[in-house]
Amino acid sequence: MTKEVARKIPATLIPGDGIGPEIVDVVERVFDALGNPFIWEKHQAGLNALEKSGDLLPESTLDSIRRTGLALKGPLTTPIGGGFRSVNVRLREAFQLYANVRPARTIIPGGRYDKIDLVLIRENLEGLYVGHEHYVPIDGDPHAVAMATGINTRAGSRRIAKFAFDYAVRNSRKKVTIVHKANVLKALTGLFLETAKQVSADYAGQIETNERIVDACAMQLVLNPWQFDVIVSTNLFGDILSDQIAGLVGGLGMAPGANIGEHAAIFEAVHGSAPDIAGQGKANPSALLLAGALMLEHKDMYAEAQWLRSAIDSVLSTEEGRTHDLGGSVSTSLFGDMVIDRI
Ligand code: NAD
Repeated sequence: MTKEVARKIPATLIPGDGIGPEIVDVVERVFDALGNPFIWEKHQAGLNALEKSGDLLPESTLDSIRRTGLALKGPLTTPIGGGFRSVNVRLREAFQLYANVRPARTIIPGGRYDKIDLVLIRENLEGLYVGHEHYVPIDGDPHAVAMATGINTRAGSRRIAKFAFDYAVRNSRKKVTIVHKANVLKALTGLFLETAKQVSADYAGQIETNERIVDACAMQLVLNPWQFDVIVSTNLFGDILSDQIAGLVGGLGMAPGANIGEHAAIFEAVHGSAPDIAGQGKANPSALLLAGALMLEHKDMYAEAQWLRSAIDSVLSTEEGRTHDLGGSVSTSLFGDMVIDRI
């Protein structure tokens, strides 16, 4: 049944490349069934854009996101060599998308971990990812020493900590865990810890706070992931831990992500363009559909997000609703039909 929605919001839709167009096609059909909450402006990026316009990230795509402030993005291949910068990093910088949100929730029971429901919030613009790197040549070896500088700021740490605590309040979460390595990187992650703790004081009585050193956190995520609710961390630690939590709930095909800034938000699947299975109808569209659910919530369309999640959960709970990565054989497009049948 096709739903009716009260609001229709302009949003940029980027099919991407590899498996991108196949899974974006499913998203478009499923969102039609949801009553078209978004009016899509379709624009290219990635290899398709490079072929057509000579640029991985054309100005027309950037203009559309500037206008809408909202995008859903299929995966994009970063060509190896040729001096290409990752489009994902360029988008983060262009729109100052400082918060990366990665929820992990068990959908298919009976895996290694049941009943996981946690969210990792990663600082997306600072830390060791600022890319201040160089080599020091010694005795004729041009790469004798490699150096990298990380940059964390008080303002950036405050902004991401506040985002994490506000997210916790908005989404009825109970606890925020601050993850750091302040025992060794005393300045770089010490500043982050100190600032996040200051921010936590404003939420005392409302949200519980604790802290963990990143290596201990990684172990605890394997031993007892249920102790975590919202985790907030710096860029590099967040990058690593977010793939770890995706692994707790069935892998990359199930993991959505959001990149959020003051003026724009871009939603995507955590996985890449999967060139090994592109064009074969084997891709699992769940992660991108779940990213669509995050996008609905971002625009306060909680009922629509819930309809969508329930439909995806219901399909995945059946044996015949599993794509190849989950040990089944349903095609990408048929998976989409099954989700639509349940909306
Ligand atoms: P990948 O995530 O594309 O694939 C890793 C493995 O997981 C592959 O075997 C693939 O078949 C499988 N897989 C991934 N998504 C799947 C899905 N939805 N359904 C079923 N199986 C799925 O990682 P990769 O091969 O390392 O990267 C390929 C390209 O994607 C690279 O150019 C990389 O830079 C790019 N990439 C882009 C993004 C993004 O756009 N956000 C993220 C990661 C990687």
